[in-house]
Amino acid sequence: MVTTPATASSPALHRALDYDLTIVGGGIVGLTLACSLQASGLRIALIEARPKAAGFQNRRAYAITLLSGRIFNQLGIWDDVLPQITTFQQIRLAEELHPEVVQLRPTDLGTSELGYVAEHGVLLRSLHRRLEAGAGVDWLCPATVQSVTYEWDQATLTVALGDTVKTLTSRLVVAADGARSPLRHQAGIQTRGWKYWQSCVTVVLRPEQSHQNIAREHFWASGPFATLPLPGNRCQIVLTAPHREAQRLLEMPEADFIAELQHRYQGQLGEINLVSDRQLFPVQLMHSDRYVQHRLALVGDAAHCCHPVGGQGMNLGIRDAAALAQVLAQAHQRGQDIGSLRILQRYERWRRLETLSILLFTDFLDRLFSNDWGWLRGLRRLGLWLMNRIGLIRHLALRLMTGLSGRLPDLANHP
Ligand SMILES: Cc1cc2nc3c(=O)[nH]c(=O)nc-3n(C[C@H](O)[C@H](O)[C@H](O)COP(=O)(O)OP(=O)(O)OC[C@H]3O[C@@H](n4cnc5c(N)ncnc54)[C@H](O)[C@@H]3O)c2cc1C
Repeated sequence: MVTTPATASSPALHRALDYDLTIVGGGIVGLTLACSLQASGLRIALIEARPKAAGFQNRRAYAITLLSGRIFNQLGIWDDVLPQITTFQQIRLAEELHPEVVQLRPTDLGTSELGYVAEHGVLLRSLHRRLEAGAGVDWLCPATVQSVTYEWDQATLTVALGDTVKTLTSRLVVAADGARSPLRHQAGIQTRGWKYWQSCVTVVLRPEQSHQNIAREHFWASGPFATLPLPGNRCQIVLTAPHREAQRLLEMPEADFIAELQHRYQGQLGEINLVSDRQLFPVQLMHSDRYVQHRLALVGDAAHCCHPVGGQGMNLGIRDAAALAQVLAQAHQRGQDIGSLRILQRYERWRRLETLSILLFTDFLDRLFSNDWGWLRGLRRLGLWLMNRIGLIRHLALRLMTGLSGRLPDLANHP
């Protein structure tokens, strides 16, 4: 956790405001930021529109990188989280039914595992418990930020809390309010990117045979097909396909859908039972022109979104939160104004290029594999063949996918 003396102050910061920092959005990214700064001495408000219980019931699962695991460990929630999630020791990459299967193992990276799969509700509940066990963060939930005005020395938020409307002042506002980010729109920050020709169908299944804690990414010409192992021998499936096919997969009778999955697994997992409803998510690549402006910073999906291939989106947001917490805690310690553009640009310089490289990498992966062109098919099979034979390629790919490349936040520097 980022800790600073509570006495830090500056003559320039005398004006009494309700909060030093207001985080809008209590998803996993917003909560990670709040936990990271809980002991910093900053007065923090966390505003979330949905009731707490709604988040706890969300069973969607994510691939969590080693880096995010380290951050959660430093935040003190890992002992609570670890027994409820899966740790995987192997990743299998393959192209359709081609026999060349790349098996990535911890020895390729020099670690004892390769990553984790965690359900949304599990992470959210542990982050909540962590916040509630300490002081320093005021929860406003369910409450919705309706508007924000930015002035030279403060931001003023209008917040709907039940039937009442409240006004709050804060030195800095952090938008952790998701891909559609009302705060980003309102601040006039433009984004670039594109919507993919594909959507994702997600579902949780229980196979007859053990998933053996193996994470699988199979590349089909229609799009990547990921299988993430969950506790209780369940698997989270993320199946990417062109919109019309994805819609068809969503709506077809369950028995036909299972037959589609069986074709992809070629019987490797035995009989399959679905244990959740199917859900459909359109996919986009989005990058904000700016992550910061005076008294505002964007984190997580509010700042960027990427293709789910490789399971990077949430992990990028957790890394944003840890990096921003470090920048803000250092500025606070030095008595600097945490909402000034000069300070916030340190966070933007740190994260923007790193994030863009991951966004483009996931885009490259999706485009390279999601097509039926003969010459490209030959090239990617050569790539998988080389990967199977050259340890350095496996090592570099794993460093990128596990989040261990680039500048690590202090919270992630302790394995
Ligand atoms: C199919 C699919 C699979 C994925 N798989 C993975 C994976 O395996 N690994 C991975 O790392 N990522 C994955 N992702 C990406 C991941 O889901 C997102 O990156 C992540 O959920 C973003 O978290 P967030 O906290 O930034 O935003 P959100 O989770 O969207 O949270 C935003 C919060 O802000 C609140 N809010 C919004 N507006 C207001 C307001 N005005 N006032 C108050 N509160 C407000 C909302 O209620 C919400 O709780 C996947 C995405 C998809 C579509």
